[in-house]
Amino acid sequence: MDDVRDVVIVGSGPAGLTAAIYTARANLRPVVIEGLGAGGQLMLTTEVENYPGFPEGIMGPELMMQFRAQAERFGAEFITADADEVDLGEPFTVRVGSDTYRGRSMIITTGAKARMLGLPSESQLLGHGVSTCATCDGFFFRGVDIAVVGGGDSALEEANFLTRFASKVTLVHRRKELRASKIMQDRAFANPKIEFAWNSEVVEIVGNGKVSGARLRDVETGIEREIEVSAVFMAIGHIPNTALFDGKVTLDDAGYIITEPGSTRTNVAGVFAAGDVQDTKYKQAITAAGSGCMAALEAERYLESLGPH
Ligand code: NAP
Repeated sequence: MDDVRDVVIVGSGPAGLTAAIYTARANLRPVVIEGLGAGGQLMLTTEVENYPGFPEGIMGPELMMQFRAQAERFGAEFITADADEVDLGEPFTVRVGSDTYRGRSMIITTGAKARMLGLPSESQLLGHGVSTCATCDGFFFRGVDIAVVGGGDSALEEANFLTRFASKVTLVHRRKELRASKIMQDRAFANPKIEFAWNSEVVEIVGNGKVSGARLRDVETGIEREIEVSAVFMAIGHIPNTALFDGKVTLDDAGYIITEPGSTRTNVAGVFAAGDVQDTKYKQAITAAGSGCMAALEAERYLESLGPH
């Protein structure tokens, strides 16, 4: 059983790397299957101004490099490849190509990704006016017009929040009715800074190096028009990265891992989940890091309860 680690961590955003720092410092020899897209959603972000400890702000990828270096300093081992398969019978096993990594405990931190429209202009301008997080980026767009795409609670929450900064927010929704709850709708309709572009889909985000507008198509008439905006916030939902765990750990209807309230415990003893993969509410780097710490401490206690190898 020599090759059975104390902890295998799958995923390497703020949650996974914080769990790696804590478990490595506790001498639990974690191995982190960091994935080919190591670093998670912050790798797709430019400036991060709300992560405590960086008064001047820090670039998202730089922040993740610092997290990773801190975990490495205490001996965390990194495997830069995607996990192909997991087995949650004990010991918990992750297969990566022809290699397998086994652990007496597992921390799942595979995150979630924001659903995107899939336009080339959208990926080119991501971080340059295209954003998936109003809390993170709203502050950069003071006194300008911006657009929010979507018709659910997130879109309305973001639109309302963004009116603190923007002079006008255009909510672009592909239908005539909103999906959002009544209270959120009432709030948005009462907000004089929010305009609605109904029955509209975004066909292109316009801009050379940074966003200057969005081209909308009326889905009924096919007529296209361009609105001048300095930012486009995508709020069309998130997709948790849980395909590997489907049928192995309990997921909710949207595919998020269910953890016990106030804990990172899943329904499988010894398997913990932290960060956006189990968070339908906050989705912030700092909350992900906090829950990564919780998972590390809970894994440590679980291992203590098992006794020595
Ligand atoms: P959601 O409820 O699934 O809404 C997604 C919205 O995006 C829908 O209006 C949908 O349009 C639109 N959409 C999806 N794919 C699209 C595409 N390819 N192009 C254009 N539009 C697209 O997601 P959410 O708003 O992120 O909310 C997720 C869950 O969290 C919900 O249960 C929600 O109630 C909850 N939540 C609650 C709060 C709160 O209570 N304060 C805040 C945020 C989220 P259609 O309507 O046409 O399908």
